[in-house]
Amino acid sequence: MIKRLVLASGNAGKLREFRRLLEPLGFDVVPQAELGIGEADEPHMTFIENALAKARHASAQSGLPALADDSGICVDALGGAPGVQSARYAGEPKSDARNNAALVTALRGVRDRRAHYYCVLVLLRHPHDAQPILAEGVWHGTVIDVPRGSGGFGYDAHFEDRETRMTGAELPLARKNELSHRGRAMRALIARLDDEQRHECAR
Ligand code: IMP
Repeated sequence: MIKRLVLASGNAGKLREFRRLLEPLGFDVVPQAELGIGEADEPHMTFIENALAKARHASAQSGLPALADDSGICVDALGGAPGVQSARYAGEPKSDARNNAALVTALRGVRDRRAHYYCVLVLLRHPHDAQPILAEGVWHGTVIDVPRGSGGFGYDAHFEDRETRMTGAELPLARKNELSHRGRAMRALIARLDDEQRHECAR
């Protein structure tokens, strides 16, 4: 039974959200940096390939089960950009402030503000796991020019949820987890894990 997991990410916002989701279920979530593991390369064109690369790197380096998330914001009017480039939309070094400024600039004069966050999760039970658990989630909303809220991370202050009309940065963490791409993906992954633990078999 998996109880200790290495999180294949150095993103403090993601860590906060995963801990909030997983710790009540008895999981001990250890960020890879705490084990001296650096960030994996993310050279791929798809979220799933990048997530697999990150999970495999963290599991191989730690010998522990590893959870990776690859996520981003996809804007309809920009043909799905920033997409897999979300963390580095404004180039290196990674900066949320510069990414948000670049997004607002790219959408200047554009009326169609529809966007969604996408998240794919990969859980590798061990580095040679040939049947990783995969789960995905989507969160629909619109991109706004003037940021609102002080919570969240990344593009949250510029992303207004389609239903509540609150931004990701205005929503309390528990509420964001109910609505968000990551929360939805995590619930799907937990359901898979529960099911598997009920029908325990070697993988
Ligand atoms: P990754 O670490 O390569 O998966 O990059 C994900 C990037 O997508 C983050 O750095 C953020 O810019 C953006 N992102 C993903 N999820 C969220 C979220 O829940 N809120 C705000 N930005 C997000």
